[in-house]
Amino acid sequence: MLYYSSRGKTDPVSAAQAITMGIAADGGLFVPEKRPRLNEDDWLKLRNSNYQQRAVQILGPFLPEFTQEELNKCANAAYHSERFDDPRIAPLVHLYDHVFVQELWHGPTCAFKDMALQMLPHLLTLSMTKTEEPDDVVILVATSGDTGKAALEGFRDVVRTRIIVFYPDEGVSEIQKRQMVTQEGSNVFVAAVAGNFDDAQSGVKRIFGDLSFNRHLAEHGLKLSSANSINWGRLVPQIVYYVSAYVDLLAQGAVEAGQPVNFVVPTGNFGNILAAYYAGLMGVPINRLICASNANNVLTDFIRTGIYDRNRRFEKTLSPSMDILISSNLERLLFETTGHDAGKVSMWMEQLKNQGRYEIDSETKDKVQSIFWGDFCDDVQTLETIRAVWEERRYLLDTHTAVAVKVYQNYEKETGDHTPTAIMSTASPFKFGSSVARALFSPEAIQGKDEFTLLNMLSTATGIQIPKGIAGLENREIRHKTRTKPEDMEQTVLNFLQL
Ligand SMILES: *Cc1c(COP(=O)(O)O)cnc(C)c1O
Repeated sequence: MLYYSSRGKTDPVSAAQAITMGIAADGGLFVPEKRPRLNEDDWLKLRNSNYQQRAVQILGPFLPEFTQEELNKCANAAYHSERFDDPRIAPLVHLYDHVFVQELWHGPTCAFKDMALQMLPHLLTLSMTKTEEPDDVVILVATSGDTGKAALEGFRDVVRTRIIVFYPDEGVSEIQKRQMVTQEGSNVFVAAVAGNFDDAQSGVKRIFGDLSFNRHLAEHGLKLSSANSINWGRLVPQIVYYVSAYVDLLAQGAVEAGQPVNFVVPTGNFGNILAAYYAGLMGVPINRLICASNANNVLTDFIRTGIYDRNRRFEKTLSPSMDILISSNLERLLFETTGHDAGKVSMWMEQLKNQGRYEIDSETKDKVQSIFWGDFCDDVQTLETIRAVWEERRYLLDTHTAVAVKVYQNYEKETGDHTPTAIMSTASPFKFGSSVARALFSPEAIQGKDEFTLLNMLSTATGIQIPKGIAGLENREIRHKTRTKPEDMEQTVLNFLQL
């Protein structure tokens, strides 16, 4: 199995090379040449497997250079009971009638990014060995919240790696900040950047692009790498939980073998929902993939009109992990739906870069629309949905999952489709506890209270325990106190690495 660049200007590479490189040299994303299909025996085996075994079975055909034993080790380390607080790893919960929720937030940082970032470091270090990569890697991350913490947890104490996370001093919630500055591990470094997310992100991009800086690192046997969601090693573990959801639906008698389902996905960078698309290519019977956005509704417009246009105001919402105007992984979908037409994809990506806009041809649009349905919801509707679902069904949603639930309600109303459906829940409600508290309590009740007090109020009112990754955060030792100006970030990296 080889991996092709979606821009078509480089030679295909092996899976291990694709994971080590992260992004192709021509700026494209790596896409698998073939589409592994699940046969009847595979399905039977999946039904009798736990999550770790399912992961090995799904990853195998995508990563042919990795032995069964290696993948077993990866899966058992990534989805370990010390790291996940539910032995089912990605449990499927019944919400009502034909509607289910898959909880993807039982990992150490309480957001779905753990599903991939617990696995990626193991795949990466193995890939480095297989490609005989001589250097150790330094993972550099600029984060607006969830990714930084999930990457820190994933890479902590992983051999041949160091991880450095920059977060904007003014741009993350108190809980997210505490999660990062209390991070343990011998190879982890965290710094606050005086500025907003753009300052942190621009600083990181500058470091990646600074040739003499990179040469200096290379002299010390180090190489920069990134953990963001364009790496195939982050995407492939996400395919697993869609297959797992279908197997669980079968086991619960909610569907019969071969019966199609819908998946509803709260979407930002398009990584999560793209994994659902690949699960479909593998043979999970899919009726519709429902793409749920917040007020940053660039994908809703794209799915409905075929026009991708990022020239619009950036909205800060209560579902911040979906506040994105450029959904990078869409490039992979375009490559797939055009039948691997790298010329077309390159042209559209060029237009996106230069004009912030492109329009796909009608044939590709028809293909996209035959699979995807898109809609969005605003902050007011998000809070209303959290309150209504709690009152009617005693199920507590975080803000991102609430966007998905609301969009699904719109879908049902508009289409009358009652196909069995799994809604992807991407964060624990406690991770975005102050917003969830706003949905449940009166303004007077929450006025002047800090985030930790609100979490306790939420827990008391709902009877749901605060997850381990968040409980007691306010009392944990603060280990990372570095603060840097955007222009000093390179020096901060050198200090961390003692160069
Ligand atoms: C990252 C994130 C998303 C968006 O996922 P994409 O793969 O970027 O589309 C949604 N919800 C939460 C809680 C996230 O952390």
